[in-house]
Amino acid sequence: MSRQEKKPQKTAPNEAVPEALPGRRIVLNGVAVSSGIGIGPSRFINRRGSAMVVRQKIRRETVKKELARLEQAVSRLEAEFNAAKTRLSPMADEQRAQGELLDVYLMICRDPKLLNTVRANISEHNMGAEWALEKTAQDVRRSFANIDSLYLRERSVDIQTVIGRVTGYLQGNAVSAPGGDEPKIIFAHDLTPADTLALEPSRIIALVTEMGGQTSHTGILARSMHIPCVVGCIDLEECVQDGDLVIVDGINGVIVVNPHETELAAYINRRQEFRLYEKRIRVNSAYPAETEDGVPVPVYGNVENGQETALLKALGGEGIGLFRTEFGYLSRRDLPTEEEQFEEYKAAIQAMSPHMVVMRTLDSGADKMIGQRRVLEEANPALGMRAIRYCLRHQDIFRRQLRAILRAGVYGNAAVMFPMISGLDELRQAKSILSEVRQELDNEGISYSRNVLVGTMIELPAAVMISRALAREVDFFSIGTNDLIQYSLGVDRCNKYVSYLFKPLHPAILRAIKYTVDMAHAEGITVCVCGEMAADPYCLPVLLGMGVDALSMTPQHIPFVKNLIRRSNVEEFRLLLKSIFSQGTPEDILRLVSQNVYARFKDELAFFASMTDNNA
Ligand code: PEP
Ligand code: MG
Repeated sequence: MSRQEKKPQKTAPNEAVPEALPGRRIVLNGVAVSSGIGIGPSRFINRRGSAMVVRQKIRRETVKKELARLEQAVSRLEAEFNAAKTRLSPMADEQRAQGELLDVYLMICRDPKLLNTVRANISEHNMGAEWALEKTAQDVRRSFANIDSLYLRERSVDIQTVIGRVTGYLQGNAVSAPGGDEPKIIFAHDLTPADTLALEPSRIIALVTEMGGQTSHTGILARSMHIPCVVGCIDLEECVQDGDLVIVDGINGVIVVNPHETELAAYINRRQEFRLYEKRIRVNSAYPAETEDGVPVPVYGNVENGQETALLKALGGEGIGLFRTEFGYLSRRDLPTEEEQFEEYKAAIQAMSPHMVVMRTLDSGADKMIGQRRVLEEANPALGMRAIRYCLRHQDIFRRQLRAILRAGVYGNAAVMFPMISGLDELRQAKSILSEVRQELDNEGISYSRNVLVGTMIELPAAVMISRALAREVDFFSIGTNDLIQYSLGVDRCNKYVSYLFKPLHPAILRAIKYTVDMAHAEGITVCVCGEMAADPYCLPVLLGMGVDALSMTPQHIPFVKNLIRRSNVEEFRLLLKSIFSQGTPEDILRLVSQNVYARFKDELAFFASMTDNNA
């Protein structure tokens, strides 16, 4: 459940930064992004400023020691890569590709030329090991910079990755599965989606980061992995030491380091209650949800890979409203082939048949870099070579994916959807490539679905403003409120410093959604909302009142939202909307909506109310 009114802040026994003495109880607050309660020992990875390297000459007599530190870090990284390889199954295509990536990394680790360069920087130029590595990375970058080959530039990125990981070991920051057999609570300054994917879910109890906001992709991944997660926590490094016993309350966004015994016992109970609650709300989840006044509201799932379909169906998902296909690209060095994509999409479409599966084309860029590479230097990646822009520039990648989607469509009911469309020209270009791909498949005599619907995401204010024109050229809209809020309010969705401005109930956002819905309906097409707003109980009355046709969300939220829909009354929400549009601020709107929400969703929210801090 979203708790918009909660801002990240730190609470400690006294206002000063608490000393991180072992055994000392400290309470921290952040933004709860994945529900559940995790209790266990902590492990810090990816510390703040880990990229910063002190450039100080070392004394001659410490050269030997520095060389030994380097060798030890390289050996530890090698051991990590080898251990990761043993966990992979050579039978699974995706895992085979990960194995190949690990082989490349191992080769780089053992490359004598590269290692000798770093050693020479230490022994001949008296650089510390981190600085020597950084200098080598810089030299590699320079020598590859002017090479006009994507392949070679990517190899350069692999070398940078390995050097970064060795540096991580030197600084005690390696992003890897937590050490030891015991599952851990992972603390990090920041985690990219690729970092999160690299973690082994069965060994993680919960995730806590200093960076990130409600809709950052790390939170989205944590939810899909069903791991409690709190982001935007200040001063973690000062407050948590490896091995501390920690409680992560992913419902209230609270972290308790070294809890008192009574508190620990209370949280163990809460954890059990939460598990029972999750079971309870699933009881009616298999049935479609209809409002009190008889309006059916289909509820779909947002998934990151095909393996989530079983859980999605078990939780009552009536289709996939958003398949974030880029996650199939994130955990590997190379690009997936058409066949690999076809197989993955086919399995998902088949598993969900006869329900709809909306395949969003590759939405890479910003915080989701594919192949773990940032080949382009971009000052503002969120405004840069992202999503459809990337696909229109790299048409070979785009066409390969479209072929896979069209071919997989034969096995059920599929749609293709373009992310981050900013204008008609982009949409037309994407559609014309899709037509060419159909023609190609016809020419090659390859079977594909001729019924694949075409939709566009509405994520940019520009798309909202021209939504009537866009609606004439597609079969459906899906509003990506995470990005729509980011781009409309100018608030980086991953930046905790401005997350207090990330307001789904901002009048500008509500007007944008209302206008989009009206324009879509005027042209006879449907509108789904697939951003995090779709599962927020405080936004639901507004969305239903506006006439949004369907909702798509993290599968775990589906049972909860279906119960809310059953308690909803669209006619009443329509009336409420009139008063909402006369309000000036998000807070005024929240106040107004809250009265309705408390009255209507009392029973559904009661569990969360009983789980708030006051009841600890
Ligand atoms: C969105 O922007 O709301 C959306 C659903 O897409 P993503 O979160 O993957 O950017
Ligand atoms: Mg988006």
